[in-house]
Order: sequence, then C-alpha cells, then structure tokens
Amino acid sequence: MNAIEITNLKYRYADGTEALRSISFRVLPGECVALLGPNGSGKSTLLLHLNGLLPEKINGDGAVKIYGETLAAGNLESIRRQVGLVFQDPDDQLFCPTVAEDVAFGPQQLGLTENEIAARVKKALAQVGLSGFENRATHHLSHGEKRRACLAGVLACEPKVLVLDEPTSDLDPRGRREFKTMLRTLPATKLIATHDLEMAVELCARSIILDHGEIVADGRTLDLLGDEKLMLAHGLEMPHILHHLHPH
Ligand code: ADP
Repeated sequence: MNAIEITNLKYRYADGTEALRSISFRVLPGECVALLGPNGSGKSTLLLHLNGLLPEKINGDGAVKIYGETLAAGNLESIRRQVGLVFQDPDDQLFCPTVAEDVAFGPQQLGLTENEIAARVKKALAQVGLSGFENRATHHLSHGEKRRACLAGVLACEPKVLVLDEPTSDLDPRGRREFKTMLRTLPATKLIATHDLEMAVELCARSIILDHGEIVADGRTLDLLGDEKLMLAHGLEMPHILHHLHPH
C-alpha cells in the first residue's frame, strides 16, 4: 500500500490563483522525498492538502489518500492522526507557555491517559534532543530549539507520515547539521519541502520538482539535481556537493 497517493489534485485560491494544476504522485512507506521548486511553485499548498488544512473541498476528480484512506470532510480527524505537519514558522505552531505543555497538546487530543501522555512527551523530547527542556518557556527558546519543540509536538502523536515545510531555513550551519542528523533517525515516511538542496541530497533518495503548480520532474535526487539544465529551467541550482560528481 502507498503511504501517500495523490491523484489529479488541483487547487485554486479564492482570488483565482491556480496554485496546483494537476498533481499526481505516490510515496511508499518509509520513503523520504524532497519537494523542491522555486517560491510560489505550490509546495506549501500541496503540503496543506496532506492533512486537509485547506477548507474548500478538493474540486473535480482530485484525491488525496493516506495509507489507503481517502481524505474527505468526514475523516479529517483520522487523517490528521496519521499525518504530522510541521509548519515553516515555529511561531505558528507553538502556543502553550511551556515546552512540555506544548508537546502534550497533540496527545491530549488523542484521548490518551495522563501516563501515556507523559511517556509520549518524554520520548518525543528525547527524539529531538530536548530532554530536560520540559519547563522552559516556549517563547524564550532559540529558533533551532523552537523548531525541535514543534517537531516533538508532532512526533508525540506518532504519525505514520511526517510532512515538513522548510525545516532547515533560518538555522545556522550547526543547527542545520544537527536537525538533519535527527531527521534521519526518524522512521516515518517523510515529505520535505525545502530550498536546502544539500539536505535533499543527504536525506532524500527521491525528489519531486514543482513549478507553476505542476510536477516537472520526479526521480532520483542525484539524477535530478545533477541535471543542470533542468535545475536552471526551474529556478534551482545544482548543489556544490554534486559538482564533483557531475563535472562539466
Ligand atoms: P511555495 O510554497 O512553493 O512557495 P505556495 O503554495 O505558497 O508556493 O504558493 C503557490 C501559489 O499560490 C503562488 O502563486 C502564491 O502566490 C499563491 N498563494 C499562496 N497562498 C495564497 C492565498 N492564501 N491566497 C491566494 N494565493 C495564494
């Protein structure tokens, strides 16, 4: 069974902007896929569809399926249990006074017991390297720590699919390296929208390139990112680490 199956997905914003034209792709369980493309190509809009955050009904024959379950108005809750979405801006995601309360929020919505919730919080904080941060004030965390806290909140719900929007933007080089190392240890199926092409090379065997709301390439990351013509045609650049593999 596919972890993610998207068929003919189209989306138009209320002002008429056609953000997704006709997107179809599948992701197998355990895959880590990079979603690449210039600003405005539709990456965030696509990610928001994965757990039904866009209010309008999907028009036409478009469909989003998560582990065989088709997303529809009646099963958003069940889909959201399976898909964990980490927003681009941690300040959009953190809203409780302390780290422990924030990470506990998701599991509390799942109707778990207090003991189960405490165990999930402890485990998630350990997974992101924030053990001991339980009583820290979320608004005093550094940017990198905020990103980890957001991820912990999502991991505490134990989603099968992890969707991340620009997880390494605004991180310093060490923060970026640490975040990538941590992501690699997480077993969930991952779809990562990013401009960090080195991360795509290091973490994602497969990449999908979007431009103007359409998939323009879907294949092995090393093949796509090593294709300078393809990259330049879609506002991207071949990452430095590939130059020695694909010399001119
Ligand atoms: P990306 O994440 O690749 O930068 P987006 O999904 O944010 O791309 O945007 C895709 C297109 O939809 C762009 O043309 C953008 O201007 C437009 N768009 C995004 N959000 C809205 C919105 N709320 N209302 C109208 N248009 C939007």
